[in-house]
Amino acid sequence: MSRTTVWVFILLALFIPASARAQHDGVPRIRAVGSPAALLLELGRDRSVTFRHVAERIARGNTIVHVVWRQTGGQLRGVTQLVTYAGGYRFLRVTLEGHASRSAAASMLGHELQHVAELAAAPWAVDDLGVAALYESIGQRSCAKGTCFDTQAAQHVGVQIFRELTDGSITSADE
Ligand SMILES: [Zn+2]
Repeated sequence: MSRTTVWVFILLALFIPASARAQHDGVPRIRAVGSPAALLLELGRDRSVTFRHVAERIARGNTIVHVVWRQTGGQLRGVTQLVTYAGGYRFLRVTLEGHASRSAAASMLGHELQHVAELAAAPWAVDDLGVAALYESIGQRSCAKGTCFDTQAAQHVGVQIFRELTDGSITSADE
């Protein structure tokens, strides 16, 4: 057995149990805060394969995200923020604020969860500097002041989820 082969086995021994633990530790990665957010999660998971795929990618990482929907007046906006890194997990918060149909809000939630999945895939991004470095490389700035970014992947995910949720079967209960 060559030295390289030994190293490969050691690395596998280190990383495979870690990834298996991430998937099977029973810790819910996406948590709704309040029933409006819970309804959006349920809608997305039940009716959108794209939404489910994003959630599965989050389940493989060490990010835990709390989701809140503040149903205020005005146009719907969404933001994803890193809250803290503790106990081996990165705690994130997705905040939706404003008024929209459930389909539109679930699509925006899916867009924000794509950002969570992007962070889940970059385990080294554990603070604001790390997050900014990640988005300097994969995203585009989305505001003139401050540090806000967006990605084409998240834009695509949001549009795709909206298509899946509104494909001819949404009833008036959507509003
Ligand atoms: Zn975005």
